[in-house]
Amino acid sequence: KVPLLEIKNLETAFKIDGNYYNAVDQVSFTVERGKILGVVGESGCGKSVMSLSIMKLLPKGAGRIRGGEVKFEGKNIEHYSEKEMNKIRGKDISMIFQEPMTSLNPVFTIGYQIEEVLHNHFKITKEDARKQSIKLLRSVGISRAEQIVNEYPHQLSGGMRQRVMIAMAIACQPKLLIADEPTTALDVTVQAQILELLKDVQSVNDMAIILITHDLGVVAEICDEVMVMYAGEIVERSDVRSLFKAPKHPYTRLLMDSIPKMDVEEEKLGSIKGIVPSLKDMPRTGCKFANRCPKAMPECTELKPVLAEAEKGHEVSCLLYESSKTGEGTNVT
Ligand code: SF4
Ligand code: MG
Repeated sequence: KVPLLEIKNLETAFKIDGNYYNAVDQVSFTVERGKILGVVGESGCGKSVMSLSIMKLLPKGAGRIRGGEVKFEGKNIEHYSEKEMNKIRGKDISMIFQEPMTSLNPVFTIGYQIEEVLHNHFKITKEDARKQSIKLLRSVGISRAEQIVNEYPHQLSGGMRQRVMIAMAIACQPKLLIADEPTTALDVTVQAQILELLKDVQSVNDMAIILITHDLGVVAEICDEVMVMYAGEIVERSDVRSLFKAPKHPYTRLLMDSIPKMDVEEEKLGSIKGIVPSLKDMPRTGCKFANRCPKAMPECTELKPVLAEAEKGHEVSCLLYESSKTGEGTNVT
């Protein structure tokens, strides 16, 4: 069976001072229909660049895909023209972002903007589009839908705007929804509601979702599988349960320590020391996490770890695991 989305050895580079540097480096993964995949890492780890690569929305002249494959339903979309991509975007694959204010147009009503998505992809009358947009708003938990269609984005709260964005994103019943930090700008209570809503719309439409976040707590809420990225690479991947039960990569463990705990609200918990190296300063040899890793060994600056199965269904890229030295085997240390 063909996976919904299949990424193979994706390399996306950005131009800095005339040279290209890989922001996404040899990333491979698949997304199955109806599954929720969490992609976790700090900002600058390549999560957003990866999703923009899938959508072919990289900033022109600055970023480009320079290697690998992106297959959607078995078709390589890498060579699709802008016109072909426009048919897919919003219809088969849609995307929501962190700050809905920037994706909603301030000068048009909510109804107009949802209906425009429908008109772009279907032959539908004005009346039917209006009915459909009210229905969509109800389906994302907006009860005053008849009024909201006539309102403008600035009249709504952040949480309501994100609901509207979700309504727009699912308007054409896409097979894949990419949600990039969809709850980051919202307060904790609204965050929880939006996550719950994503889970609901996923199950109704049997969509796959790629949920991009810096917060492992968000992943725990709704994801089936999780992929941890660092400096443009996948460093760990497994089902959510196994990741939370036994995180393997030192970076994942630090991310886990930084999940805010309910009872210690004020205290900033263990944010990770140091920063993700900039594209220009990326170490050329060894493990890219070596300069921040509490477990680093002398060999870590020389040998490059390979993402490999350390345990069935649980992959990690770290020299603490025999599998990462050889690229095979399951000899966990
Ligand atoms: Fe740390 Fe070494 Fe593992 Fe990299 S390979 S994560 S530096 S222990
Ligand atoms: Mg980002």
